[in-house]
Parts: sequence; C-alpha cells; structure tokens
Amino acid sequence: MITPSELSQKRIKKMVQTFCDKSGTVTHPDPSVSEGVELGLAHHMDTLGKPLCPCRFYPNKTEEIKHRTWVCPCDDMQIYKYCHCLLFVNKEGMPITEYLPDGHDGKSYGIIKDPTPDKGRALKSKAHEREEERKNRPS
Ligand code: SF4
Repeated sequence: MITPSELSQKRIKKMVQTFCDKSGTVTHPDPSVSEGVELGLAHHMDTLGKPLCPCRFYPNKTEEIKHRTWVCPCDDMQIYKYCHCLLFVNKEGMPITEYLPDGHDGKSYGIIKDPTPDKGRALKSKAHEREEERKNRPS
C-alpha cells in the first residue's frame, strides 16, 4: 500500500479540484476510484517530483517525465478531455470520448458527449501533433 506524504496528497487534491472546475468535469462518483488515482499521483510527486499518470506502465519513469505527455492533467485530457484513469469524468462516472480520434483506445466506451463544451481542452490546437506522437509512441 502506497502512503504518499501529506503535502503531496494535499497538493494533488487541490490540483484535482482546480482542474475539475476549469475543465467542467467531476471526480468519479465512486470515491475509491478517485482516491486510488490521487494516491498514485501523490506518490509520483514524492518520488519523481511530478504527478505522472499512475494508470500506465513506463519503461523508464525518469525519462517519461521529460515529456509532458503523461503528466497530469495529461495531453489526452488537455486536448480531448479524456481521462483514462476515470479521475476526471462526467456525473455518471464516464470519461468524455466525443473528441477522440479514430483508433484511440478510449473509443471502446462509445461516444460520450461533453456536458460542458465551453470548458477545458486548453491544448486542443495540438490535436494533430498529439496524433502523430500517438502513432509513434504507445497511446
Ligand atoms: S489519464 Fe491524464 S488526466 Fe487522467 S489521471 Fe491520468 S494523467 Fe491525469
């Protein structure tokens, strides 16, 4: 069982709340889902200095944090508003998938509409760049 520092847990909780407000998403209605993800993010804050997404495998985490791709809120979230950890979701606890490109793993959920299209997606202009990167690296 991971026990991150209180400071990192606090920082992550604050970041999550701020980002929910900014993106128009909510945390998962089952608190055990969001708590697990938040603990993983806080653990990465303690060990790597950055909130690297805890729901993925990385061959080398130190190398990974040199890119912002999977630092929370990750590129998929900032571009497509899609959170594969189910931390930032709609009120039903589903990830938003309507902006995902064809071939993206998240498409397996079907099309889930964005209830707050006026919020979030600060990096949506980078969708093309992200697609190129996704083809060359694991999504
Ligand atoms: S998928 Fe992205 S937004 Fe969701 S927890 Fe992981 S890094 Fe954060």
